[in-house]
Amino acid sequence: MKLLSALPFRLSFRAWLALLIIVPVIPAPALAEWRTKTINERSYVPLADFAAAFAMTKGNRRSGNGEIAFAGEAHRLVVKTDTREALVDGVRHWLSYPVVTRFGNPFVSLADINATLGPAMSPSSVKAIKPVKTVVFDPGHGGHDKGGRGPYGNEKDYALDVVKRARRILESKGVKVVQSRLSDVFIELHERPKMNKNYESPVFVSVHFNSAGWKPSANGIEVYALPSAGLPTTGKAPDPILDRRKDAGNAIVPASFVFANTMQHTLLGKMSESFDRGVKRARYVVLRYSDVPSILIEGGFVTNPEETKKIHSPEWREKYASAVADGILAYMALANEQRLPKRAWDYGREGSDEFVWEE
Ligand SMILES: [Zn+2]
Repeated sequence: MKLLSALPFRLSFRAWLALLIIVPVIPAPALAEWRTKTINERSYVPLADFAAAFAMTKGNRRSGNGEIAFAGEAHRLVVKTDTREALVDGVRHWLSYPVVTRFGNPFVSLADINATLGPAMSPSSVKAIKPVKTVVFDPGHGGHDKGGRGPYGNEKDYALDVVKRARRILESKGVKVVQSRLSDVFIELHERPKMNKNYESPVFVSVHFNSAGWKPSANGIEVYALPSAGLPTTGKAPDPILDRRKDAGNAIVPASFVFANTMQHTLLGKMSESFDRGVKRARYVVLRYSDVPSILIEGGFVTNPEETKKIHSPEWREKYASAVADGILAYMALANEQRLPKRAWDYGREGSDEFVWEE
């Protein structure tokens, strides 16, 4: 709206679109370049252009609430205008900037195409992905730092238990696995990724459980990767200082994002009862200090009455650990053999279809 009021006369949408600037396309397979338009001082791309590049056409969607859907044989994308939420191939993702409409047509930021939508739909196009030989597990918290406290136990113990189980599964398949902590001890956050440098071609996986004592209904699984330098974290407005901090993890962000995306698809596919909280972005210390592909998994809420019972059960933790191991194996198959990772719907899970709230 700001742009329109600055113009001396009203342009038709077609004329306005003709003023788009052309920039090179990074991930899309079909288009040579994107047409961009400056909106809210950022480069935006017509969402229809992005959809066309992935052979999607506009579908019907509950009209009137801002939801817009595109679908093709291989991909599905649903966005809600003026929000940062996107359902990409059936799994929730959180964008850096809201999808906006101009002349009734949706636009998505070029930053989100490059950082999230493109790599999510075309993981094999991400050049930062390199072969993987070692898994560095980081069981969250430990010692005096109990993490989230549930009615039956503490996050630190569940995290260590899941790591031990996932490690056993991965080692049985010949994967080298090490851990930032082997027992109930506290290790400073910035120390945890330091062990990466002792091993050949590692990935870093921090295992946590969530808590929200103020909101017992909160439940579900989310996976975090570092945001690209200059882009905001999920649930927060852009921060001109924190978002531009120089972090060791910045260089490897595209690979970390594909790892997070692959993990969330696998976890949701295998844990069919778990709610999809999405692939998120945060500048957690362990992700900032890690210069290899790195993710942080929140495997459910110890503060949710139903979920905490499951987390406390060894059978559930074994199943969950197996899903975590499979998510790592799926990323390794992509990195080492260029094998495309399965999507949540390949496991028979119905795609996430409702919009929630950003937090
Ligand atoms: Zn934690």
